[in-house]
Amino acid sequence: MAGETSPAVLGLGGMGGTHAAAAKASPYVRRFPGSAPGPARAALADIAVIDTHVHLWDTDRFRYPWLAHAPGLNRPFLPADYRRATAGLNIEAMVFLQGEAEPSRSHDEVAWVTAQTVCEPRIRGIVARAAVERGEAVRDDLIRLRRNPLVRGVRRIVQDEMDPAFCLRPGFVRGVQLLAEFDLHFEICLKGDAQFRAAIALVRQCPGVRFVLDHIGKPFIREGLLSPWAGNMCELAALPNAWCKLSGLVNEAAWKRWTVAGLRPYIDGAVAAFGFDRLFYGGDWPVCTQASAYRSWVEALHEAVGGCTALERRKLFHDNAEAFYRLAPPWRSLHP
Ligand SMILES: [Zn+2]
Repeated sequence: MAGETSPAVLGLGGMGGTHAAAAKASPYVRRFPGSAPGPARAALADIAVIDTHVHLWDTDRFRYPWLAHAPGLNRPFLPADYRRATAGLNIEAMVFLQGEAEPSRSHDEVAWVTAQTVCEPRIRGIVARAAVERGEAVRDDLIRLRRNPLVRGVRRIVQDEMDPAFCLRPGFVRGVQLLAEFDLHFEICLKGDAQFRAAIALVRQCPGVRFVLDHIGKPFIREGLLSPWAGNMCELAALPNAWCKLSGLVNEAAWKRWTVAGLRPYIDGAVAAFGFDRLFYGGDWPVCTQASAYRSWVEALHEAVGGCTALERRKLFHDNAEAFYRLAPPWRSLHP
C-alpha cells in the first residue's frame, strides 16, 4: 500500500522473476528444523488467527493519493469485504493499519475506523499515522491519539522517501523517541538495503521504544535476493526492542505466480532471525489481493511452517500478537 506499493514497484508487479537464487542455500539463512511439512499439522480452520495488518478504506469519504497508482484497490474496502475475503478462516482479532489517507485527515481516519468497530468488533487495535518527523511538534497528535483506547502504535512510512536516511533526521528520531512517553510503538515500512540500515540505526537510538518491522522488511523475493536482507534481519533482531511481522510477502514476489517454495527461504530467514517469540502474522489485506487471494497467503505460511510445534504455531498466528498489541479481553487476564 501507499508506500508499500510505490508506482515503481507496481510497474514490476506482473513481471515475475526467478526464485532459483533464493532456493540455493544461503550463508545467511539457517533453515529452522521445522520448515519441512510435518504429518501432524493442524488444520488451518482450527487455528485461531490474529491478523495484525488489516487495511480498511473508504474512497467515498477520504482521498488516498497512492490509490491512483493501484487501480485494483481504488474503491472502498470495508469490514463486509474483509469478512468475505476471510470466509472459512478463524480470524479472532484484527489490528487496523493506517491506509495513507491524506495526512491532514489522519485523525479522521482513526475516528472512522473506530466507528467501524460497531459492526466489526474484532478490530481491537489501531496503528495510526503520525508525522513523527516533526519531532516535539508531534506531541499534540500523540496526546490526541492516546485518548482513543484502541490506538496501540503509529506508523510513518519511509519507503517512498528519496533520502535513504530520512528516518535518521533529528526531528524523526526525536518524534519516535517521544512514543515511549505514550506507550505507543512504531511500525517501520521500508524497502531496500539503505533504508534497512537506517532503520536499524533508528532502533538503536530509541531503546525505550518498541518497533515492528512490517512485511519482514520487504525483501526482493521477485528477484530471488536473500543478501543483504538476511544479514540485516539478524542485525535488527539482535536488538531486544524489535519485533517483526510476517506479512506482505506475496506482494514482493511475482504477483499471482509465486509459490510456497519461493517464499519459504524468506519465511525461514525471518524465523531464523526473530525466532517464534517476536514474529506475528499479518494478512496485509486488501493490498495482498494484487498478488494473491487472502486465503492463499495464509495457507502458504501455514504450509511453510508446517513442521513447527503446536506452541510455535500458536505464538506466530495468535499469542505474540495478542501480547504485543494488548488485544486480550480483560477477563482473560483475570482468569489465566
Ligand atoms: Zn499494508
